[in-house]
Amino acid sequence: PKNVESNTIKALQDRYDQIDPANIKRFIDFPLSSHTLKGLKESGYMFPTEIQKNTIGLSLQGHDILGAAKTGSGKTLAFIVPLLEQLYCSQWTKLDGLGALVITPTRELAYQIFETLRNVGRFHEISAGLIIGGKDLHFEKNRLDHCNVIICTPGRLLQHMDTNPLFNCDNLKVLILDEADRCLDMGFENDMNAILENLPPRQTILFSATQTKSVRDLARLSLEDPKYISVHEHE
Ligand code: ADP
Ligand code: MG
Repeated sequence: PKNVESNTIKALQDRYDQIDPANIKRFIDFPLSSHTLKGLKESGYMFPTEIQKNTIGLSLQGHDILGAAKTGSGKTLAFIVPLLEQLYCSQWTKLDGLGALVITPTRELAYQIFETLRNVGRFHEISAGLIIGGKDLHFEKNRLDHCNVIICTPGRLLQHMDTNPLFNCDNLKVLILDEADRCLDMGFENDMNAILENLPPRQTILFSATQTKSVRDLARLSLEDPKYISVHEHE
């Protein structure tokens, strides 16, 4: 029932202020929903990596994030966990439409993110879809209006925004810009800017392996008063 759930959510959110990365050893040390904790556990994730420790709390608090950490440091879960919590705490249902959008440079990365979301998010009642080049546009078009989370590449997303009347992002809560440096290196700057112009106000989490000038320019356009987190793990 909704009011029991509301109390659970409120109890979690009351703990957001006290999150201190120094005290986080395991995922269960974060105030996360039982659905997410179970999904993490059953997917074999116990201990957050540095970038996860340092950004998940800030993301839960609702801040915009500009995060940098090298490839392989675990940036995917660093955004999937707060994404799931954001929708859960908003008591998102299938009827609420698109709540979260993840933009990543390549199809392969989009598939990987989709798989991680399916695994870790399996106890949540949300639907996710992929919008990537090379798939049938018509097929994507008709299924789009049922998705609560969309994982996409920039060019293909823009194509939908421009041509698909079923594409509606009015309710969007959170935007993830994954591997932003690569998106820009691959020539998606204009597409990204056009996408940003079409989106309503929302939380934005930007991750990148490097902090280049073009990433900072994109951050200026897409983020509001962001928290800067840069993690350099010792080898
Ligand atoms: P990045 O996006 O920073 O390049 P990924 O999110 O793709 O890194 O993660 C790299 C690898 O590390 C993946 O195989 C992922 O399953 C694994 N991984 C991520 N977070 C954890 C964690 N907390 N515990 C164990 N393995 C993890
Ligand atoms: Mg990545």
